[in-house]
Order: sequence, then C-alpha cells, then structure tokens
Amino acid sequence: MPNILPIKIERPNQYMLKTTWTTNEEFVILLSVLRENCPCAQCQGETIMGTHYAFPMLQIAKPGQNSLKQIVPVGNYALQFFWEDEHTTGIYTWEYLYSLCTSYSLRSDEIEKLLESERQKS
Ligand SMILES: [Zn+2]
Repeated sequence: MPNILPIKIERPNQYMLKTTWTTNEEFVILLSVLRENCPCAQCQGETIMGTHYAFPMLQIAKPGQNSLKQIVPVGNYALQFFWEDEHTTGIYTWEYLYSLCTSYSLRSDEIEKLLESERQKS
C-alpha cells in the first residue's frame, strides 16, 4: 500500500469520523469502531517474548469511551486519539486507519439513517 495518506480528517458529528485520502476515497466510520480497534497494548494485549498477554478486563464499557476529546497528528505517519475517558495511548498509523476505514466504512444510506434518528431525538 504505497503512500496512501489522508488529505482531510473531519468530524461531521459527535460519533462519526470522516476521512478523505490521496486515493480520492472518502470514508465515514463510527468512533466506537475506532475505539474498539484501538491499537495500543492495553486494548489489544501485548506480546512479550512470544507470549500474548490480553487484558480482557478493559473490555468493560466506560462512560465517554467512544467520545473524542481531541485528535492530534503524530509526526507525519499517524493520529493519536484522545478519548473522553482519558484513554490516550492509541496511535493509529495511516495504514491502520486506512484498513479500518475500508473494513468498517458506513454506506451513505446508513449514514443518512443515523443522521435521521439524530434529528428525531433533538
Ligand atoms: Zn487503547
């Protein structure tokens, strides 16, 4: 996957992330999907000397865990997400982010449905 980079990162609302890439592709994914796939050692477990250690207790949902406080670029290769529950150790490289986007991107009718239910709530 040579040089696929994000051109634009947007937050259309509280729970979606929209990304635009150098391939001219656009993806909208749910923040909860990003959080569930947090690549940090705490969330994914850690492999030490060939043994994989998982941390299943961290699967318990915490308030604010799918809400984003801030997105900060890391060098020119990744984004770091700051979540409302103070979890900040997830570094999402372009390659990882792109693979999540292509795997989990919402179809336009799904986005429309979500926005519609949002409008009805308010
Ligand atoms: Zn994590």
